[in-house]
Amino acid sequence: MSSESSDTKTTFTSPIRAPSSVPVDDAVIPFEVNALDLRGRLTRMGPTLDEILHKHDYPPAVGKLLGEAIVLTTLLGSSLKFEGRFILQTQSDGPVSFLIVDFQAPDRLRAYARYDKRRLHDAKDSGALLGKGHLAMTIDQGPDMSRYQGLVALDGGGLEEAAHEYFLRSEQIPTRVRLAVAEELRAGTDGARHRWRAGGLLLQFLPASPDRARLPDLDPGDVPEGMEFQAQPEDDAWVEGRSLVATVEDLELLDPDISAEQLLYRLFHERGVRVFRSKDLHAECSCSRAGVERMLRSFPQDDRDHMVENGKITVTCEFCNSTYVFEPMDVREPEPSPGAP
Ligand SMILES: [Zn+2]
Repeated sequence: MSSESSDTKTTFTSPIRAPSSVPVDDAVIPFEVNALDLRGRLTRMGPTLDEILHKHDYPPAVGKLLGEAIVLTTLLGSSLKFEGRFILQTQSDGPVSFLIVDFQAPDRLRAYARYDKRRLHDAKDSGALLGKGHLAMTIDQGPDMSRYQGLVALDGGGLEEAAHEYFLRSEQIPTRVRLAVAEELRAGTDGARHRWRAGGLLLQFLPASPDRARLPDLDPGDVPEGMEFQAQPEDDAWVEGRSLVATVEDLELLDPDISAEQLLYRLFHERGVRVFRSKDLHAECSCSRAGVERMLRSFPQDDRDHMVENGKITVTCEFCNSTYVFEPMDVREPEPSPGAP
């Protein structure tokens, strides 16, 4: 999850060039700052995010939270080196009780959130919307491979906080994540319309020497009484890296007029930053009429009977809101062939 394969490296004939000023939306751009042993990824999202969030009529606060989850997923999932899936989901007791983002390598994204409209007005930020529960990240490489699942508790904080906690406890990699999501009002042919935009940044300290990677602030919790836990000072390179990330404004992450390269240059130009080939992102659901039909056929007849309304079985995909309507007769199990036991 933390390193890029060498084949993604772009070799330039000249190692130094001016950052591209062309803003590109819906892409993740990996980068490294060798002088500080830092690696990271920067995501900018426009139309793809807008398409996913507009499939449902989310209240703004829910759309923003789901947008943050989508950006976080792109920052973590885009490093997958295989044709697999990265699924981020939360289950919690806040007004947004469940959300899921499904990233299918190399570029397909879909997502949705479940929420209780009546409880939304009490929640002032992402942490309050989620409440307490957990966030799970699953890497699924197909039926023949073992699944990986990472879990982190949600304890009233937002998704940035949960990501920091995850990398601190599970991966022990010093990590900083920034997520920004907003709606912009844009004039169109059919009048002004709100459009979702987002940006995100992930920065990790990955020194070659494992000694330097040790986390200084991880209290072991089992220090014998009378002895003091000796915190190790943080590595200067990491202090510099995370201080730079702390200066990034939401507006910079969101600004459609600043390119990802310009933003990275603005942050790291003093140390030299190297960017790799960016990866595109697309909104695309994997549901299909044939898939829904297969699922219906696999149900017991009793369950199918309960699904009939006004003589039809209607199934709506929670991700993309597509509706599939079937005649009950058309999705019955195939009759056993004569002679079969
Ligand atoms: Zn769908």
